[in-house]
Amino acid sequence: MELDSLYQEVILDHYKHPLHKGLSVEKTVQVHHVNPSCGDEITLNLLLEDDVVKDVTWDGVGCSISQASSSIMSDLVHGKSMDHALTILESFSELMSSKGSITGDEEILEDGVALAGVSKFPARVKCALLGWMAFKDAALQGRNEEKK
Ligand code: ZN
Repeated sequence: MELDSLYQEVILDHYKHPLHKGLSVEKTVQVHHVNPSCGDEITLNLLLEDDVVKDVTWDGVGCSISQASSSIMSDLVHGKSMDHALTILESFSELMSSKGSITGDEEILEDGVALAGVSKFPARVKCALLGWMAFKDAALQGRNEEKK
């Protein structure tokens, strides 16, 4: 897989120094997701307060793309309102399903655009989406919890 070298550096940096990795004690919900095609796994803790992503932490094992993407995701949604976080998620999902036709909106996705090249490799898209899908799952469950 060939990615632009600058982007590759961003991915490697997140892989080596993942953000928000290590599960928090306080949480609204916890989810566990796996990507069997690659062997990536993630456990994600989400703490919601008044529909704001108060904290998001995760732990996991897997390839550099899945780990880097989870790191980027957690940093992007941290502290955001749920609606804002879901908009970011939507934008990333669109990028991943683009098969390389778009480069992603850097204003919204920040370091996430470094993963744009992954969209050309269908087998790796699941790696990149793992953390994001875990967040989506936790967000929907968390909202239900908050309503109780
Ligand atoms: Zn993977």
